[in-house]
Amino acid sequence: MAKYIFVTGGVTSSLGKGIIAASLAKLLQARGFRVTIQKFDPYINVDPGTLNPYEHGECFVTEDGAETDLDLGHYERFLSVNTSQLNNVTTGRIYQTVINKERAGDFLGKTVQVVPHITDEIKRRMQLIGKTGDYDIVLTELGGTVGDIESLPFIEAVRQLQWELPEEDVLAIHLTLVPYLKAAKELKTKPTQHSVKMLRETGVHPDIIVCRTEEVLGNEIKNKIALFCNVKREAVIEAMDASTIYEVPLLMLREKLDVITLRKLGITDYPEPNLDNWKTFLDKLKYPKAKVTIGLIGKYIELQDAYKSILESFIHAGAMNEVKVKVIDIHSEFINEQNVGEKLEGLDGLLVAPGFGSRGIEGKIIAVQYARETGLPFFGICLGMQMAVIEFARNVLDIKDAHSTEMNSNTSNPVVNMMEEQKRIKMMGGTMRLGAYPCEIEEDSLAHKIYGKTNITERHRHRYEFNNDYLVKFETAGMIASGTNPETGLVEIMEIPTHPFFIGVQYHPELKSTVENPSPLFVGFIAAAKKYNEGKSSK
Ligand code: GLN
Repeated sequence: MAKYIFVTGGVTSSLGKGIIAASLAKLLQARGFRVTIQKFDPYINVDPGTLNPYEHGECFVTEDGAETDLDLGHYERFLSVNTSQLNNVTTGRIYQTVINKERAGDFLGKTVQVVPHITDEIKRRMQLIGKTGDYDIVLTELGGTVGDIESLPFIEAVRQLQWELPEEDVLAIHLTLVPYLKAAKELKTKPTQHSVKMLRETGVHPDIIVCRTEEVLGNEIKNKIALFCNVKREAVIEAMDASTIYEVPLLMLREKLDVITLRKLGITDYPEPNLDNWKTFLDKLKYPKAKVTIGLIGKYIELQDAYKSILESFIHAGAMNEVKVKVIDIHSEFINEQNVGEKLEGLDGLLVAPGFGSRGIEGKIIAVQYARETGLPFFGICLGMQMAVIEFARNVLDIKDAHSTEMNSNTSNPVVNMMEEQKRIKMMGGTMRLGAYPCEIEEDSLAHKIYGKTNITERHRHRYEFNNDYLVKFETAGMIASGTNPETGLVEIMEIPTHPFFIGVQYHPELKSTVENPSPLFVGFIAAAKKYNEGKSSK
């Protein structure tokens, strides 16, 4: 039987519940426990796949093709353990299941209600992963903030589990904010007191309170929070702002969050944590030997969370190469033929981001052309790869109206085309080509050098693909398909062998990059940028 830890948040959103949960999970994993994390989100969308990145940030895709909340990306990056369809549940999915059961007649004669029907379904889902026997401890992060109307059924489900399961099998952690008032030169505990009061009114009593703060809490404040919130003094944990999220596990170790958690779960026998790899990574991250500047070309750049996994992959790859990666966000809508040189000046590499729809794509194509012609390292992901294909068709093959049918359904030269199986699909939610697919890599290609093997799997999220009718023309002119799906022949990787580093991939390598296993493509790209930078300075 697994033990369950629930993490709720109070006072305000964006306190970093996901990072605290992932950090605690990391420490428990480092002490030898089998741990996973799941997230329960209170919105009605069945999954975040149908949300705009401006609303919700990036949609993270799991191995098995679930479109999930970006916090699952943090869980995987910290733990190097794959999450799945089971790890992200929304209110929409809960209701969908209950309503389907009602239609099937499972509740005949009964009034279907939030309590017990919805809460029963929530509790069932909360325990699904735990019942597989694969994990000792399952952490569950509850999205939203205590006091929101829509999170009430989730909190009620936690209350019921606290009451139903053995006391030592369920633990509740509440994350709050302790603001520092500059005028009064004081840390204020009142918001925390109110938040805990609100949580207790729902019947859930937190065992541990984690306090986000900019200043050291000190004994007095910790004592006060312990007294007013009815937790033990040792269970008031200070979570100071950190310079990087990857530092948080070590801060939590110092605060003994893991030890207190284990004690409360009735676990007394455990080894010292093994965080050697983690610490090596952190050292490299904190003390880089050089710097490279990468241009990230996208259309959602105002919102950092829209490209979360890409930015984190740069951090992993930077540490691996012992360089600091400075990412410059460049809005594709504002790039044109006149200003491209100026916009991309000083870069050591160019990444053209994934995306949907036609806004800003001409700017992306112009940026690709610049990188192709000047020898600037280029890396295109999904839509970025498709843009590289269109650019090559227009400017090298001289097919002036080459396009993707996503942006121009009437083009006479659809070098990027909707996948055959997608043409029949009418429903939008969860119907893209999603999750991990195999890719076979050509020997002696750049991709082969990067991965060091010929068979890989990477994760996907797309409806369009390279049109193989044009492949011979592309390869004859110097852009080759160096990776393809072995079953369908779908092109997964395109590269230009005569360029120092020019690669576009149909998949999303950023979704598999973790602290302990950085994405080979990102590592290779940063190495190429480093070389490019050294070349510039030796001139
Ligand atoms: N819009 C493109 C497609 O559906 C690319 C998707 C992406 O970049 N994730 O194929």
